Amino acid sequence: MGYGSTILKIALLMLAVEVLIMLGFYWFEVRLPDWKLALVDASLLAIIVATVAYFAFVRPKDRHIREVMSALEEARLHAENLARFDALTGVLSRRALFEALDAEVERAKRYNSTLSCLMIDLDRFKVFNDTYGHQSGDKVLQEIVQVISGHCRTNDHLGRYGGEEFLIVLPEARIASATTFAERVRSAVAETSLDQIEERVTLSIGVAQWCDGDNSVSKLISQADRALLEAKAAGRNCTRASQPV
Ligand code: GH3
Ligand code: MG
Ligand code: MG
Repeated sequence: MGYGSTILKIALLMLAVEVLIMLGFYWFEVRLPDWKLALVDASLLAIIVATVAYFAFVRPKDRHIREVMSALEEARLHAENLARFDALTGVLSRRALFEALDAEVERAKRYNSTLSCLMIDLDRFKVFNDTYGHQSGDKVLQEIVQVISGHCRTNDHLGRYGGEEFLIVLPEARIASATTFAERVRSAVAETSLDQIEERVTLSIGVAQWCDGDNSVSKLISQADRALLEAKAAGRNCTRASQPV
């Protein structure tokens, strides 16, 4: 792309210089021998041919290359979004969620800080699907995610962990504030009227805090999972923390 326009600029500059020289000859009535005039004619012709060639071949090709490059960039961004975001709900994909979690753990280590996470599972969602159908189930997942994400701050990471399970990573949050936040989300969802469906959907939530020294991400997840199982065992539509709040 750059070469074509540089060649054109050089050609136009040379053309201008040649025209100036010829005007100078004319002004001072300098008579050139025929062979020198022939040289000037030939170089003028070469410059004109270069200019025409640029407009005829190089410029359209440059435009085509630019179009191909921008289509490729668009495709790359599309593929990146597909990998980064869950197609149904629009929250982070499982892979992006774990990347965010790893990054937050690294940050917590570096700044001697902490973080907590919430493992969220919809209650008796199989029965919901069996009653209203999977398409209604999909729509409800989208509605519930809207409610949950409405409570998240910009720095929180909400992602789809699997089927009807979601994980929220709360940077710098201790277990007490994470549990308060979880309760806020849980009751907001329990109070949400669904579109065209009488029934309410509820959540069970397990909360865990990452502690330095005990610094494995998988341990954090399994603690949140265990707390979630306790919430299920306690009758669902409730929150349990993995350690005393
Ligand atoms: P529990 O309260 O113990 O969590 O019961 P549950 O029925 O929610 O749990 P279970 O693991 O038995 O079933 C999960 C259900 O979630 C079954 C599955 O069809 C549904 N599900 C998972 N992903 C999707 C989805 O993307 N769309 C819909 N419509 N349903 C989903
Ligand atoms: Mg589940
Ligand atoms: Mg469930």
